[in-house]
Amino acid sequence: MKAEILSVGTEILLGDIVNTNSQYLAQELASLGIDVYYQGTVGDNENRLLGCFEESLKRSDIVIATGGLGPTNDDITKEVAAKFFNQKLELHEPSWDKIQKYFERLGRVATANNKKQAYFPKEAIILENNNGTAPGAIFNKDNKIIIVLPGPPREMKLMFDKSVKPYLLSLTDDILLSKTIRTFGIGESTLESEVIDIINKQTNPTVAPYAKEMEAILRITAKAKTEEEAELLIDPVLNEIKSRVGDFIYGEGETTLEEVVAKLLVEKKLTIAVAESCTGGMVSSSLINYPGISQVFMEGCVTYSNEAKMKRLGVKKDTLETYGAVSEETAREMAEGVSKMLNTNIGLSTTGIAGPEGGTDEKPVGLVYVGIYINGKTMVKKYNLSGDRARVRLATTKNLLNDLRV
Ligand code: ATP
Ligand code: MG
Repeated sequence: MKAEILSVGTEILLGDIVNTNSQYLAQELASLGIDVYYQGTVGDNENRLLGCFEESLKRSDIVIATGGLGPTNDDITKEVAAKFFNQKLELHEPSWDKIQKYFERLGRVATANNKKQAYFPKEAIILENNNGTAPGAIFNKDNKIIIVLPGPPREMKLMFDKSVKPYLLSLTDDILLSKTIRTFGIGESTLESEVIDIINKQTNPTVAPYAKEMEAILRITAKAKTEEEAELLIDPVLNEIKSRVGDFIYGEGETTLEEVVAKLLVEKKLTIAVAESCTGGMVSSSLINYPGISQVFMEGCVTYSNEAKMKRLGVKKDTLETYGAVSEETAREMAEGVSKMLNTNIGLSTTGIAGPEGGTDEKPVGLVYVGIYINGKTMVKKYNLSGDRARVRLATTKNLLNDLRV
C-alpha cells in the first residue's frame, strides 16, 4: 500500500508553525509497514487542495490529510474530500450531540459554525475526537482512500492511534507486533548510535528509538501473518540489541522504572524508608505509585532543613558544619539514620542543589548525592546533573531508583 501525507493550512505553508504532524504520521505509517511516497503541504484553498487530492490518488492508494477540520470558513478539508468523491454532506446527529455536550461541559454553547463540524457524507466512516470537537473521517471509494484528521497534534495523534491504525491494519491480513525495550542512563542519541547499524539494516522488523522522561526507548515492530511469525522476526534483533546495551535495560514492554524497582523490593521482602531533601518526596511518591508497595514501604520523610536532618534522622551537627548538607557524608548519615529510625532493611537519601540559585564553584547547581543503605552496607553516589530545578529533581529520583535496581 502506498500512502501520502498532506498537511493543510496556510500557517504551515508560511512557516509559522513546525509541521510535527507529518513527522509523526510518517513514523507511524512506517511502523505499520505502509510506504510513504510523498509528503505535501497546501494552503487553505479549495482548488489547490482538490488538485492535491487528484494528483496524490493517481499515484497512491491513501492520502492522510491533517488540518482544516475546524469550525471556520477557511476550514475546508472535509468539504473538499467530499467534493472529490462526489459525495453530499449531511448532518450526523451523534456527532452534533457530542459537540454540543463538549461545549456544555465547558459551560459554553456550541455555535452554528460548530455545527459544520458534524456534517459528513453518509458513506464516510466518522472518527471520534476525544480531545476536541472536530471528528475526523475516512473516505473510501473504490479503494482510493482519503483520511482527514484535525490539525492540533494532540487531537490528531489520539485519533490516529485509536481509530486510523486499526482501520489501516484491517486493510491487510497482516498483524503487527511490537516489543519495547526501556533503558535508563544511556540517553537517546548514545543508544541510537550503539544500534544504528541495526536500525538502518531493518525494514521488517523496524527499530525505532524514542525518548520519554529521561529514558531512551527502542520499539521493535514486525509485520507478519501470525504472532509467532512476528516473534521470529523480532527476537533475533531484540537479542542483538540486548547483547549491546543490556546493562542499561531496566525493563521490557509496558512498565516503568519505579514499577520494576518496587516489584523487586516486594519480591525480596526488603523493607524500606526514605529521607529526601532536594527531591521533596518524589522518590517516595514514585515507589508508592506501585500498588503492592505497602508490604515493604515504611515511611518517607522530607527532611529539607538541617534541623530536620538532625532531629529526625540523627545527622550529626558536626557533619553538617564540616561538609555541608550537600555532601557524601550527609547523604550517608541520612540513609543510615532513616533506616535505623524505622528499623528497615533499606534506607535511601537524596541531598543536592536543585537550583536555579544556591550553586557555588565548589558545589554547582545539579550536584547531588544519593545514599543507599542496605542491610549494614552504605553506598553513596555523586551526580552532576544538568537542567532546571524540575529536571534535576526528576533526574535525581530516576538515578536513585536505577541505582537501587542494580
Ligand atoms: P481548529 O479546530 O483548531 O481550527 P483544524 O483541524 O482546522 O483545527 P488547523 O486550523 O489547520 O486545524 O490547525 C489548528 C492548529 O493545529 C494550528 O494552529 C497548529 O497549532 C496545529 N497544527 C495544524 N497542522 C499542524 C501540523 N501539520 N503540525 C503541527 N501542528 C499543526
Ligand atoms: Mg482551523
